[in-house]
Amino acid sequence: MEFLETIKSITPHPWSRIKNRLGEEDLSLSEATSLLTNEASEHLEEMAQAAHALTRRRFGKTIKLYAPIYISNECINGCLYCGFRSAAGHTKRRTLSADEALEEARIVIASGHRHLLLVAGEDPKAVPLEIIEKIAQRIRPLAASLAIEVQPFDEAGYTRLIDAGIDGVTLYQETYDKEAYQKFHPYGPKSEFCSRINAIDAAGRAGMRFIGIGALLGLSDWRREAIALIAHAKHLMKTHWRASLTVSVPRVRDCASKFKPPHPVSDRELTQLICTLRLSLPDAGIVLSTREPANLRDNLLPLGITQMSCGSVTSPGGYSEKYTSGEQFHLEDFRSAQEFAHMLKQKGFDPVWKDWDPHLG
Ligand code: SF4
Repeated sequence: MEFLETIKSITPHPWSRIKNRLGEEDLSLSEATSLLTNEASEHLEEMAQAAHALTRRRFGKTIKLYAPIYISNECINGCLYCGFRSAAGHTKRRTLSADEALEEARIVIASGHRHLLLVAGEDPKAVPLEIIEKIAQRIRPLAASLAIEVQPFDEAGYTRLIDAGIDGVTLYQETYDKEAYQKFHPYGPKSEFCSRINAIDAAGRAGMRFIGIGALLGLSDWRREAIALIAHAKHLMKTHWRASLTVSVPRVRDCASKFKPPHPVSDRELTQLICTLRLSLPDAGIVLSTREPANLRDNLLPLGITQMSCGSVTSPGGYSEKYTSGEQFHLEDFRSAQEFAHMLKQKGFDPVWKDWDPHLG
């Protein structure tokens, strides 16, 4: 949490001072902040070129592909922007059995994916730790990596999940603005700002191999979110240096609740943010999901993105029944996994279905 204090006193440098540092691999937090200003926005093309070159240098032309498997949409939290929130009476609730989750996984694997992400709302009665362990043990033999985006656990809980075959945790803070956090997370365990941040450290201490953090853009000023996210990433990379870190900046999307974000982020601002993330976090992966439209995803690809979901469905049981009701948010990119991989190859990128073997790691 100390990292949130350090960013309060940061002031950006003028462009003239930062422009010669583009592409250097040791940018400070104040230099990163300088890339988020209106003045820097006038030099977006230069930033994009530097971000592109740095990405090629560190990651080549590879894009790791993954797919989510929604195992439950039951949730006791009240996140105002989410179609799964407990007060969303229009959502058809469902939690998959281990057999049903395995069936979903088989369909996703058949489409080409080997990196899978289990997703659930937060309802400890519907989806306790034991259920996630059971599902992980069933699916793990099919997958190259198996991560979770579910409720937070303590260190002992994450240790059990690692033993069950989970190797990655995605846990977005959503917003680093405490005031906005309280407003948009009015009740439920997720309303505890600090415990959410601390949980990701617990995953790191437990030895989780992949850690994913992110800010949901639209809830507060995007520049404040960006600098807090960078500071958080730097803290995690220093503290849990054995783990591989990814950052993500999804924008709030339409969902059944019709939530309108108070701070919408334009395509140009998102581009500036992604360039800034790449230039200030040269070793971090950057994730871009199917929340963004296909043409924008294709255009952002060369600027620092290293991981993308594709062929995704965001409702429990959605792969076997295809587009049932009760999805978390509306997708913007409907291409199948193979169509997406084909597009990558046409653009000269290598789609990576599998880059990690638990038996060799
Ligand atoms: S964002 Fe997650 S925790 Fe919040 S209501 Fe939706 S499913 Fe529940």
